[in-house]
Amino acid sequence: MSDAETLFERIIAGEIPSDKVYEDATTYAFRDIAPQARVHVLVVPKKRYRNVAELAAADPQVLADIALAARKVAELEGIAESGYRVVFNTDGDAGQTVFHVHAHVLGGEQLGHFGR
Ligand code: 5GP
Repeated sequence: MSDAETLFERIIAGEIPSDKVYEDATTYAFRDIAPQARVHVLVVPKKRYRNVAELAAADPQVLADIALAARKVAELEGIAESGYRVVFNTDGDAGQTVFHVHAHVLGGEQLGHFGR
């Protein structure tokens, strides 16, 4: 991977403003700028990996931290009981645009099922 900073590293560093929802030692969560549901929060590890598979191979504990941070976000947003979706877009057909792994946490309304 190139050493060039991604957008999300600049957000984590505070160089680009974000609407923070939650933060802990290894993760940072903030509202998506173009929400696809009433609640749409991104959870990113502070250390960069390209995608969820690279993260899982290199640092499975931080992948677990992301899952727990997603639940914390759901609790803070009041959607832990009603249910929520966690999505990791990975490469081209999935539409990944920022190559710093991130979980989309979506909810707050009835979501459509998977697919197109
Ligand atoms: P991807 O398409 O890689 O799975 O997700 C990237 C997400 O980042 C998109 O949902 C997009 O709306 C969001 N995004 C892109 N630029 C910004 C930004 O500057 N601030 C915030 N908060 N979200 C952004």
